[in-house]
Amino acid sequence: MSFEKLGLIKPLLKAIEELGYAEPTTVQKRAIPLVLSKSDIFATAQTGTGKTAAFALPILHKLRKPSLSTGVRAVILAPTRELSVQIFEDINSYAKYMEVETMILVSGKDLEKQRARLKSGVDILIATPGRLLEHLESGLTLDSVEVFVLDEADRMLDMGFTKDIRKIHPLLPKRHQTLLFSATYSDKVRKLSKLILTKPAFIETAKKNTTVETINQVAYLVDANRKAELLAYIIGSRNFPQVLVFTRTKVSADELAVELQKDGLKAGVIHGDKTKANRLKTLNQFKEGEFRVLVATDIASRGLDIEELPYVINYELPSIPEDYVHRVGRTGRAGREGEAISLLDVYEKYDIRSIERLIGEKIPQELVEGFEPDPTIRRKDVDEVKLKAEHKNPHAKKERQYNKNTSKVPATRKQLKVQSKKRKTTKRD
Ligand code: AMP
Repeated sequence: MSFEKLGLIKPLLKAIEELGYAEPTTVQKRAIPLVLSKSDIFATAQTGTGKTAAFALPILHKLRKPSLSTGVRAVILAPTRELSVQIFEDINSYAKYMEVETMILVSGKDLEKQRARLKSGVDILIATPGRLLEHLESGLTLDSVEVFVLDEADRMLDMGFTKDIRKIHPLLPKRHQTLLFSATYSDKVRKLSKLILTKPAFIETAKKNTTVETINQVAYLVDANRKAELLAYIIGSRNFPQVLVFTRTKVSADELAVELQKDGLKAGVIHGDKTKANRLKTLNQFKEGEFRVLVATDIASRGLDIEELPYVINYELPSIPEDYVHRVGRTGRAGREGEAISLLDVYEKYDIRSIERLIGEKIPQELVEGFEPDPTIRRKDVDEVKLKAEHKNPHAKKERQYNKNTSKVPATRKQLKVQSKKRKTTKRD
């Protein structure tokens, strides 16, 4: 099926052709006709499946007809600034031959300037929930909204935006269309969908929580204290030109980058403690090839669109199995082949089972010559060492718990304070 057959207007077809999109992806084939027929949709589609165009193209098609009002006609909510920027850029490239005003509303920019721009007339608003609410509380109305999109809804809910979304939703006019996109089909998302969708059409482009088929997945067993060395070895010996590496915590992201520099590998770091400007700068430097390795934590990495990224390495497994799906979704994008490598220590060797259960397949575990784990180190031994250390230093236990599940178990008053201040970021970021 071609884009012409989907009935999209000529200015859109021209822009798509220039972008080199030969034919619609699965989610686009299914979503575009539904959105054009005014149906609400619930789509489980991962990053890399072409989901942005799946909602952006039919929205732009709808906006070809002028509106009587000057208000905002489409609102797209995204969990992070980076994803918002990506959507904004994608929409602008699709709308190249149309007269559509798009605007991005994310924190970190001057509120007053944003207000003035909104007054001058905006058709499509791409926003993070918090910043949109701020504007709604100070006068912005959504009376003219025809289409409301929640992109990466599962992640928005994981990041604590449920309340914000529940506040925004009643401010939309009665007659509007809602499109919900989520990489995973969690209970939270299902609950929200019941609240905001009316008779939705369901689109499931990949099996529930499965990873993209074109990705080769492998896990290497290694001792925890040799992971950085193995990582540098893999990158060097296989001559990876660019690689995205995931850690579970901000601390290990920073430490790993330092270790890699020692091995002569230039690495950038993206996590929740970096300013937004810094994160975008680092991402652009990585895209331009200024460094080979980008080390990221889960939440900070959302929305990163790095074209033709062939390799993703899980330096540490994520604490939430669903994050594995998001991580490896960074490779094998739009049908290209990719490889996802996980480095497993004695703990993670077992932890990976919950990921395998989620994705419904087994990830082969292999050894790398020279990096075989010490067979005398067992999980039990590691536990005992930790327990002994904790006996001597009670804070170590709290710290371990905090590191294990940072969003729920603050270790100290200081950390608690930091958490309450930064409601939307956790140590995982
Ligand atoms: P997304 O899932 O929206 O993040 O898109 C992933 C990547 O696929 C982006 O770089 C898009 O530009 C690209 N893309 C989207 N639709 C198509 C298509 N029909 N053909 C080729 N590439 C596409």
